[in-house]
Amino acid sequence: MSQPKRKPAGKAASKPAGKPARAKGGEGATPVLLELLAARGPSGYEQAPVAVWREAAGAFAQVSTDLVGTPLALIAPAHGYESERRRLLVMGHIDEIGLIVTHIDDEGFLWFRDVGGWDAQILVGQRLVIDTAGGPVRGVLGKKPIHLLREEERKKLPSLREMHIDIGARDGEQAREMVRIGDVAVIDAEPLELPNGRLASRALDNRLGSFVALEAARLVAEAGGAQWEIAAVAAVQEETTFGGSRTSAFALEPDAAIVIDVTHATDAPGIDVKEAGKHELGSGPVISRGSTLNNGVFELLHAAGEAEKIPFTVEASGRATGTDADAVHVSRAGVPTGLVSIPIRYMHSPVELVQLDDVHACARLIAAAALRLQRGTSFAR
Ligand SMILES: [Zn+2]
Repeated sequence: MSQPKRKPAGKAASKPAGKPARAKGGEGATPVLLELLAARGPSGYEQAPVAVWREAAGAFAQVSTDLVGTPLALIAPAHGYESERRRLLVMGHIDEIGLIVTHIDDEGFLWFRDVGGWDAQILVGQRLVIDTAGGPVRGVLGKKPIHLLREEERKKLPSLREMHIDIGARDGEQAREMVRIGDVAVIDAEPLELPNGRLASRALDNRLGSFVALEAARLVAEAGGAQWEIAAVAAVQEETTFGGSRTSAFALEPDAAIVIDVTHATDAPGIDVKEAGKHELGSGPVISRGSTLNNGVFELLHAAGEAEKIPFTVEASGRATGTDADAVHVSRAGVPTGLVSIPIRYMHSPVELVQLDDVHACARLIAAAALRLQRGTSFAR
């Protein structure tokens, strides 16, 4: 991989490589993707990214939102297949991990718990945005400084319970005017564009998946529809309870499903490919195979990738996948379910890192698979 040519030292050279992401057409960071990433939406509080998703879907699909907050975009079957009513669910969750305020003390400090899984070390020293009834409130994550830690404290890993949020309040009274118990926060960081079409940002998990569900539906609509109806959804509450995938799979009763999420790119230091398989940035989407996943759906995706010459790798899972597929495949009497993932580095951090052409390749793969579905296609095991 070639390094970007640095200009010879001089004024121009001081411009740092890597800059806030700016929207680009086609491949790369599209305006919709950047808006989805900018919108803040921890599990259970997804209204802002859902509004962006709905608006984009409304350009080519019939859109609705269910009681749990999951938006749905329906693409009708192609002409002549309307009566079939075979339905493919294409799902990528739209929620992200965050923090929730549990207590505001009399000094004005906020105490919190996690929404979804956090590595506490990553939180130390971060800037935050708290969404409140009065609008966004900024704050910082405070922790006792190293100089004041006793020897044994220095050896211990920081834990969430020992951290607090400082919003600069004078006292508890002022803090309680600004923030309420139950308000949620995310890390205050803009998406950052890096060389080689790469992007670092919070919430790639799984705004990327919700974007791919949207794009795949758009590509199928542009192709005039598939023989099956496509139900694209941006499920809520994946990071906590699978609440969105459980309820939308129950309501939509699909004949088959493709779930989209992120997985660990293995070309970062310290990752063992013997366990995870080889999934480098730029190697395309990752198609999963495993005990909870339907092999017929796997073969459909695999054949689509080969036929359309879309790069992909394969990942195996011997148990639950840790994604919405775990809820969808056991919905009602069971749903034949496949899983496709986008490889990212540094998952569950504010610097998750992706190569954007893997995202677009993932949308093309799922659209191609959907367009291969026939009237009589069956995934019975
Ligand atoms: Zn996820």
